[in-house]
Amino acid sequence: MSDVVILGAGPAGLTLGCYLAKAGISSVILEKAHHPRPHVGESLMPSTVRVFREIDFLPIMEAAEFPRSGGIVYHPRGRKSTPIAYAEFPQDGVDQAYTYHVDRSKFDMLLLKHAESLGCQIVQGATAREVLFDEAACVTGVRVAVAGQEIVVPARIVVDAAGRGTRLGRQLELRRDHPVFDQFGLHAWFFDVDRGKRNTADYTHIFFIPELRGWAWQAPINSEITSLGLVADKGIYQESGLSVEDFFTKALGHNAALAKATRGAKRLNDLKGEVNYSYQLEQVCGNGWIAIGDAARFIDPIFSSGVGAAMHMARFAAERIQAALESGDVSRATFLPYEDKVLTDAAIWDDFIRLFYRLLPSFTHVVESPRHRLAVLQLIQGEVHSDSYAPILDEMRSLVTSVERADDHELRGELMEFPRR
Ligand SMILES: Cc1cc2nc3c(=O)[nH]c(=O)nc-3n(C[C@H](O)[C@H](O)[C@H](O)COP(=O)(O)OP(=O)(O)OC[C@H]3O[C@@H](n4cnc5c(N)ncnc54)[C@H](O)[C@@H]3O)c2cc1C
Repeated sequence: MSDVVILGAGPAGLTLGCYLAKAGISSVILEKAHHPRPHVGESLMPSTVRVFREIDFLPIMEAAEFPRSGGIVYHPRGRKSTPIAYAEFPQDGVDQAYTYHVDRSKFDMLLLKHAESLGCQIVQGATAREVLFDEAACVTGVRVAVAGQEIVVPARIVVDAAGRGTRLGRQLELRRDHPVFDQFGLHAWFFDVDRGKRNTADYTHIFFIPELRGWAWQAPINSEITSLGLVADKGIYQESGLSVEDFFTKALGHNAALAKATRGAKRLNDLKGEVNYSYQLEQVCGNGWIAIGDAARFIDPIFSSGVGAAMHMARFAAERIQAALESGDVSRATFLPYEDKVLTDAAIWDDFIRLFYRLLPSFTHVVESPRHRLAVLQLIQGEVHSDSYAPILDEMRSLVTSVERADDHELRGELMEFPRR
């Protein structure tokens, strides 16, 4: 019997495998696809660098020569853009002022090879069909489809790292859709995108598109190819009556900076659609199981937080799994500190993103405030696990409330309404 079976070889599952291997714990990672496989999620937060360093992956990232990302530029519609350099806020355990944009097929493949080199056993083309439980509702293993047959892989602990399919969330009916956000994504790679000023050309660029209750991103994949993506409200798309292609093309014209960047752009692959968000599991651990990364929760990726959050969840989950195996107690009680942390962080992000959407200028307001700027930078760099977020959220909330109360407020027209799902 394997001590730990991990479902999914994405950033969450592979990072967990690396942390466990470094702690002397062996794991089996089951992956339904065959790497290299494409994936959305190409701009990484600076906090990922801490994890790369801890799992000895940083030299591999440097050797891979991915484009370096020195910051983010926000382009509100009709107002001047706000650049933020990661160097402005040094983080513990991160001694470089940049992170990376990655071609995920290459990045995930490199991480997989690294996990294997540390001793993880990885089986590709293996789809987890069902997590198995005994009468006491404790995990006993996984039913897996592999090489045309179904087999049972016994395990003491199963980790769901299978992404937005939420393997365990669906099986145990723990998945709850977000009460407000009902969006989808469209993205592709392009040649000849005008990346703007030279000093911020390799930053992540975020363009606000309030009429679609969404936004778009621009991120370099290499010196010639740029990833462009759109996140928009599903209801608005359905009402538009447009084809996906036309909806995407029209969206590029909704923000002047985006229109300028994409005027001469030529698409080099098919538009890819992303559904299945936003949601959270009501419970992210149980007797003999833990969910990490997108398998635990997913919220609008506007701050490029997904991969960083997935890796940090893997980091915390590894600590609890080690404690469980050392004590022999793999019950939910042992994993609860992990759940507390994940649900607390998720609540902070949720609050932040709701305020952000309700009144987009509330974000620019705190970013441009000398009192709050550093704390905001800390938050959007993936440092959710800190106490400094409360004053930012209070400040944003107070601006939103004052705009809601005053019919003649200059920002009144910028309040965004979201129908409940
Ligand atoms: C539109 C959009 C834009 C985004 N932009 C960014 C961004 O710029 N930066 C960022 O950090 N994040 C971004 N994200 C989020 C990012 O894609 C995810 O948060 C990240 O990939 C999560 O990693 P993961 O390992 O949890 O899941 P995944 O990367 O999805 O990996 C899960 C793995 O599990 C495998 N799997 C699935 N089901 C099974 C099964 N039953 N059995 C075995 N294996 C299985 C899958 O094949 C996959 O390899 C974006 C997401 C979207 C939708």
